Amino acid sequence: MTELRGYTCTSPDDTQRAGTALARCLRPGDLLGLIGDLGAGKTLMVQGIARGLAVPPEVRVTSPTFTLVNEYHGGAIPLYHADLYRIERATELDELGLDEICRRADGVVCVEWCDRFPVLGRDYLEIRIDVAGASERRLSATGHGARSRAVLADWAGALQKK
Ligand code: ADP
Ligand code: MG
Repeated sequence: MTELRGYTCTSPDDTQRAGTALARCLRPGDLLGLIGDLGAGKTLMVQGIARGLAVPPEVRVTSPTFTLVNEYHGGAIPLYHADLYRIERATELDELGLDEICRRADGVVCVEWCDRFPVLGRDYLEIRIDVAGASERRLSATGHGARSRAVLADWAGALQKK
């Protein structure tokens, strides 16, 4: 199973749980790009990923401001979280330092609005969240390389068992 097309999440918890399941398939150096409208659930998914990486529950995972990459070091491996929503010019990306973080490859990198600028490497897992109603969301994912396709296969398998 290397496809995820329209996997339905019927509640915020459900989306978070999907993120937690994904985290269990990840290792340092993995890159995740999140795509979806405002309020789709990208940050919620990252919160689920944080839980799956054992970032302590008292640590609040929120959308980072535009000049920052939030870093969480309390879990099994570091989690880096960026949001490109308010970035207007590619030059502003230098401040983020995402290149360096991706190159270091010591943790998992999550980027919301990754479709705005091509900041991720060639091998990243693209996750799209579509709003399908007040509390329903549909997840789709594409692996842009061998590693992210392997992650996707693991993740899709885990979701299917639920
Ligand atoms: P984004 O980061 O994509 O802008 P957030 O994760 O911050 O979105 O917010 C998603 C919002 O949608 C939250 O208020 C959440 O409660 C609501 N929501 C309702 N149903 C779902 C669902 N099934 N999955 C994710 N979020 C949902
Ligand atoms: Mg967000």
